[in-house]
Amino acid sequence: MRSPSPAGDADPTFSFRTRQGLLNQLSEREFDLLVVGGGITGAAIAHLAARRGLRVALVEKGDFASGTSSRSSRLIHGGLRYLQHGQVGIVYHSLREQLVLAQTAPHLVRRQSFLLPVYRGSPVPPWMISLLVAVYHGLRPRRSGLAYEHLTPGATLRREGLLRQDGLLGALLYHEFATHDARLVLETVLAARAEGAATLNYIGLVDFLVGGGRVVGGVLRDQLTRQVVDVRAKAVVNAAGPWSDALVRTLDPKRHRLRLTKGVHIILPHHRLPLSVGVNLFSPRDGRAFMARPAGNLVFVGPTETDYEDDPAAVTAEPVDRDYLLQTINAYFPAARISSADVVGMTAGLRPLYDRPGRAAGEVSRSYEIVWGPEGLLSVLGGKLTLHRLAAQEAVRFLEPRFGHGPMSPNGAAPLLPGGRWDQPAEWIAVQLRASGVTPETIEHLMVTYGGRSAALPEMLRDHPEWGEPLVPGLPHIWAEIPFAREWEMAVQPEDYLLRRSDLALMAAAAGRALPETIGPLWESLSGRVPVRQST
Ligand code: FAD
Repeated sequence: MRSPSPAGDADPTFSFRTRQGLLNQLSEREFDLLVVGGGITGAAIAHLAARRGLRVALVEKGDFASGTSSRSSRLIHGGLRYLQHGQVGIVYHSLREQLVLAQTAPHLVRRQSFLLPVYRGSPVPPWMISLLVAVYHGLRPRRSGLAYEHLTPGATLRREGLLRQDGLLGALLYHEFATHDARLVLETVLAARAEGAATLNYIGLVDFLVGGGRVVGGVLRDQLTRQVVDVRAKAVVNAAGPWSDALVRTLDPKRHRLRLTKGVHIILPHHRLPLSVGVNLFSPRDGRAFMARPAGNLVFVGPTETDYEDDPAAVTAEPVDRDYLLQTINAYFPAARISSADVVGMTAGLRPLYDRPGRAAGEVSRSYEIVWGPEGLLSVLGGKLTLHRLAAQEAVRFLEPRFGHGPMSPNGAAPLLPGGRWDQPAEWIAVQLRASGVTPETIEHLMVTYGGRSAALPEMLRDHPEWGEPLVPGLPHIWAEIPFAREWEMAVQPEDYLLRRSDLALMAAAAGRALPETIGPLWESLSGRVPVRQST
């Protein structure tokens, strides 16, 4: 059987090596659309625009998803708590989008159950919790087949024995979808590339080109080589997330539209808080809703929400954020006695919210806004991971008149992301992988991580059987994923793989293991060769 390209159909190369060729293309061609920012918003716009036949360039100043889109709670959700603030429209659309995304990327968007325990004296009264969940489910499309249940205190503790018993009145059990945010971005970028877009990481826009009172392109700098190139485009989209205002201010220093709020998660080893389902909690300190969610050998706890006014690049998780989350988690799981020594990692991300003065941070809408900026720059602000397709559809609709034709008809159903296509049956890939000697845990990990793109791995392992060895003993990741990230996912430096294309850095810390020192030498040794032979 033919091994499908793990990068997509149109151009099989999405390698760190492809960057120079793509960068040259940027200065040689005129594009229809230049998208600035390689988070979920920019990736989705580039994908949709390229799919509609536009010539698209996407540039990201760091690694893809290195901004907010790798620091989220990783939920593809309706947002139960948005109902508390009356944001019904967002919940309605998000609940529909979650089903679409679960179909287009089933390996990446997977169902996750949540308990919402109800306690006597809870900051949100029990009747309100029941009402919120009932309304939430009323907004769900019937075809979702996702029901919710009321659990008695006994049934709640049978589901999650670690919960505090004192004052427990019962729980609601309901279902959401979880994803890996940075991989969702990466696959969307891959999909854009497969549709012909020139997609580049580590390329920053440092200035706009303006002609005839309009933005007609940008000045780009390669962050690795410092090479500077001009790129010309009929339209430019600002999808720079928390940096959107900074971009707009290069054209008009007085503009300000964003309100940034910081959200922190702490990450614990699963063995310290061995949850079997996600748990939604209300902070006893201020009533804010947040969650504790198991994922592999990790548990994510968060997020916080506080206003943030400094440089977006300087955002960090502070001890005060960690202590707030620890206090709440210990109030619900007192027997676990979680301390700061258990925390193996923290993430801090910025919500790029569209400013509405006078509202508390949690009340500002999570919807996206699309606004024309100075000199015809289009900015796409705010939003949620869950709503990225809708934001992209609306942005492309705004841009259509620029390209001299009427509304482009949407071409068919939402396309599968590259890993969502299984050109070869999963069972066949599993048999091939098993024949290479990798463990069932690794096969499961590879299928969930790469979906149908994992079909390229057996051949890689035939050529390099040593790459079937685990990167870290006891974890399912194997050495083959390093060349895979280099050659097929444009990973430029080890942290691109360790922090975004996988969770290996966190998972190794949770397992009490060090990362192998030989990752660096392998990384360097791959620079001059093509490790994956494509079969025809
Ligand atoms: P970003 O991901 O920040 O992307 C912008 C990119 O632009 C960055 O990568 C940046 O490097 C790049 N850039 C900036 N300037 C330049 C330049 N000059 N040149 C080139 N590139 C540039 N949503 C959900 O649906 N579910 C959740 O569970 C969820 N949880 C969240 C939890 C937290 C703590 C936070 C903060 C947000 C959460 N969200 C969630 C919201 C969601 O994560 C964001 O709305 C989304 O990731 C924003 O994506 P973006 O592409 O607009 O911004």
